[in-house]
Amino acid sequence: MKGSIGTVSSIDNNIQKYYSKLFNDHVLSVEEILRNHVLSLNVDSCETDGENAFFVADLGVIYRQHIRWKANLPRIEPYYAVKCNPDPILLKLLAVLGTGFDCASKSEIQTILDLGVDESRIIYANPCKQASFIRYAAQRDIRMMTFDNIDEIYKIKRYFPSALLVIRICVDDSKSICKLSPKFGAPLDTTEILLETAKSLGMEVIGVSFHVGSGCYEENIFVDAVYRARYVFDQAERLGYNFHLLDVGGGFSPAFDEIGKDNITFEKVASLLGPAIDKLFPSDVRVIAEPGRYYSASAFTIATHIIARRTTLHYINDGVYGAFNCILFDHQVVQPKVLCKGGEFTFEQEIEEPEYSCSIWGPTCDSIDCITKKGYLPELIPGDWLYFEEMGAYTICAASQFNGFKKSNIIYTTTDLLTDFALTHHAIRFHLILIIID
Ligand code: PLP
Repeated sequence: MKGSIGTVSSIDNNIQKYYSKLFNDHVLSVEEILRNHVLSLNVDSCETDGENAFFVADLGVIYRQHIRWKANLPRIEPYYAVKCNPDPILLKLLAVLGTGFDCASKSEIQTILDLGVDESRIIYANPCKQASFIRYAAQRDIRMMTFDNIDEIYKIKRYFPSALLVIRICVDDSKSICKLSPKFGAPLDTTEILLETAKSLGMEVIGVSFHVGSGCYEENIFVDAVYRARYVFDQAERLGYNFHLLDVGGGFSPAFDEIGKDNITFEKVASLLGPAIDKLFPSDVRVIAEPGRYYSASAFTIATHIIARRTTLHYINDGVYGAFNCILFDHQVVQPKVLCKGGEFTFEQEIEEPEYSCSIWGPTCDSIDCITKKGYLPELIPGDWLYFEEMGAYTICAASQFNGFKKSNIIYTTTDLLTDFALTHHAIRFHLILIIID
């Protein structure tokens, strides 16, 4: 079984075999992995491995986010947005948990199909597609795909006339950190002509999709978007279509309630979005979503080594050309914390020392490679370690190897499965997956 994921039924068949291993193995916590790794550094070795920045991925977080989704938005089927973090083990886990996938390119589609995922669990959610990619989708029978313009309808008609089209509409993205409406989404005053064109070409349009923008911080925006989708459903009905799919896109925050903070949370979004959908769409309308950040953001922590210091400037061994590209592309503000100082492991500990104003820079020879221009940290020297949490979304996927710096490796673990959740059945499967892919 090693190296392959197996189907859910083959996993079931192996439950007995692995049962004792499941409950006897000690699963390392993120803290233990960080500690083992940084304290095992051999200072006399020429090998770079122990010194390199590295990620710890806690797949338990992905699993718990899935359970949380199911509990809060039972009607909405998540189609994970592969672009957000296409880590192969994360994708395998989601495949076994039964999510669908939002793919934006031929290679993303290929990756998901190679996991053995059924074609019907993929939506090709890129409204502006290369012709050869549409031909590939036709060949592999990936029928569901989005469009938002007339040219795309003609293109799809030519290369994949039996595609199931989903019209992506423009919604209010003013309350999102990463806006998508400047590039995608048909304004509501164009949807009628688009649908008429599709109809005249004999194309099957099955529903509406939208995306409120990534990093949405206002839950009412989702409700407004649902109303807009209803408007287009009604329009389509008048034109003779019978829409039966609503795709509410991504933009879901992974955040939990924070004491004393009026922050957006997944639960707040769900408490408005779920009822709005139920009010406006009969139960025979299938509802899907394309969450990315929601699943992966909190699952990844990165540890970086301080490789050099120049007065108050600290240089670490991953930067904006690597995993921290999220600062430039995704407008993320990252939070450095001290992991190991003077050989002392300090994960999640208060350090009772004065803090000094400092800046943190990546390892490349470019001055754009700055992680924080101004922060406050205790005095740190080369050889100390920092860590950054919430590094799982839009990080690794766009990392380059500019200047010859390798992408940071990932160490996997899984925490709090059987203790936190009563869904033992799923938990067993999940443990098995980890053993299989080990
Ligand atoms: N769907 C589409 C079409 C997207 O472009 C994106 C992100 O850009 C997503 C889903 C995922 O968004 P998020 O990570 O905010 O959930």
